[in-house]
Amino acid sequence: MADAPSIADALDTVRRRIAKAERLAGRAPGSVVLTCVSKTQAPERIDQALAAGQRVFGENRVQEAEGRWAERDRTDLTLRMIGPLQSNKASAAVALFDSIETVDRPSLAKALAEAIQTQGRAPELLVQVNTGEEPQKAGVAPADLDGFIDALRKDYGLGPAGLMCIPPVEEEPAMHFALLRRMADRNGLSVLSMGMSDDYLTAIRFGATHVRVGSAIFGARPAV
Ligand SMILES: *Cc1c(COP(=O)(O)O)cnc(C)c1O
Repeated sequence: MADAPSIADALDTVRRRIAKAERLAGRAPGSVVLTCVSKTQAPERIDQALAAGQRVFGENRVQEAEGRWAERDRTDLTLRMIGPLQSNKASAAVALFDSIETVDRPSLAKALAEAIQTQGRAPELLVQVNTGEEPQKAGVAPADLDGFIDALRKDYGLGPAGLMCIPPVEEEPAMHFALLRRMADRNGLSVLSMGMSDDYLTAIRFGATHVRVGSAIFGARPAV
């Protein structure tokens, strides 16, 4: 079996593909942020990504992320929460993360608003949309989105920056990306977190501002 590419080489490849997709889509160079999904990765693998200049990371569990990042110098790092968030972890999430991409229900909005008030720290917030209306998946149903955004603004004093989605695995992702884009446009939101290892180039074509890439950088994650 051929050696897997180093993390630095894999990052370089992903970055070059992103730059090319930006060009082809008529997007400004550097307009798409690469979130390196570091969930489950060992410290030395994070070290390699950092050494290769990566500064934006995505995590899907609060406690695991605290273990991985709390002791590191985070001055020029951006940490993005991309996994489902329990309301009782809202305070810890506000303390650790620069962005929380998975706001999807009033109880969580309330807990986040309280934590933001108490800590005087306001991470960027995205609303997760369950574009495929999958029962097992987190996210606001598309039909409920505009009302939820209104409630965030009026009832909780929260100004969401954008939307995030995870399309159903067995469906064409492009239609989900197009839908998310339309919903963001009509709500005056500019941040679009969409696209993962298998479909980030498509997502950029449909206007992604943030792509979340794990296995294309680190290789396949061990099954948990
Ligand atoms: C794990 C994860 C990713 C990264 O997935 P890859 O296919 O490994 O790139 C992206 N987004 C979310 C929400 C994730 O949980």
